[in-house]
Amino acid sequence: MPAVLGFEGSANKIGVGVVCDGKVLANPRRTYVTPPGTGFLPGDTARHHRAVILDLLQEALTEAGLTSQDIDCIAYTKGPGMGAPLASVAVVARTVAQLWNKPLLGVNHCIGHIEMGRLITGATSPTVLYVSGGNTQVIAYSEHRYRIFGETIDIAVGNCLDRFARVLRISNDPSPGYNIEQMAKRGKKLIELPYTVKGMDVSFSGILSFIEDVAQRMLSTGECTPEDLCFSLQETVFAMLVEITERAMAHCGSQEALIVGGVGCNMRLQEMMETMCQERGARLFATDERFCIDNGAMIAQAGWEMFQAGHRTPLSDSGITQRYRTDEVEVTWRD
Ligand code: MG
Repeated sequence: MPAVLGFEGSANKIGVGVVCDGKVLANPRRTYVTPPGTGFLPGDTARHHRAVILDLLQEALTEAGLTSQDIDCIAYTKGPGMGAPLASVAVVARTVAQLWNKPLLGVNHCIGHIEMGRLITGATSPTVLYVSGGNTQVIAYSEHRYRIFGETIDIAVGNCLDRFARVLRISNDPSPGYNIEQMAKRGKKLIELPYTVKGMDVSFSGILSFIEDVAQRMLSTGECTPEDLCFSLQETVFAMLVEITERAMAHCGSQEALIVGGVGCNMRLQEMMETMCQERGARLFATDERFCIDNGAMIAQAGWEMFQAGHRTPLSDSGITQRYRTDEVEVTWRD
């Protein structure tokens, strides 16, 4: 019964988690929050992660009630993500693996989300909607690969929300998406925004440009409120996501949908997905912010599956990569 320690730091969250045979023993996390109107830059984010990662490691071990001797493998995020944060975390993972004399595993971040979602919800073979600040994909498993059925052709849906929040100077604490969700509840007017679905793919950059330009003018003339814009943006981009997820489910004959990634804890998105699933007699699976927002346990869990299947990452191959597609990994741990 191996215990796997996982390091995650591909964007503005840094997390260290411990997973042992399907149980999350610890999963502490810190978020790098920047002032309203600003985003997080790679260098600053990496500096934040370096400042707290050893405290988090200690916290994770204490919470799990384990010592270094009880850990069987060190997993870390190999990519995709921002270069500087990824590299900072990989250095620590490599160092810890050598100090403790443990095998190392480089994990695909997207697969971490999927495996965590499967573990927590018990979904067996779902069509996955992966939505976050850096990724937007509809994924289904087939023949030892997580295959991408549809995706964004420009920015991620979470990036669209984050940048919209910057335009309106909405707070980044605890996250821009959370604050947009709360404001959207008070929105009354649906503003028509560009709705861009191209086959199985989606595009969000035009919506953002539209908001930056037209919507700001509407705000200044009093034609709509910031709350109306939050509401309209959510309704529009979530409808696009539901549409491509449903099409993938119809294609695969799937009776399960799973939402993963940071945007996945948005209750309005879950509600819209639930409606779609009910209409086709399917089940929706989703998790809360502990597990759908980037965290260390998801890397530990994917690492646990890989470790059991015999994967190991040699030190000479223990680098990082900003681009690492979900379908590049051979999923040897599933039938
Ligand atoms: Mg993520």
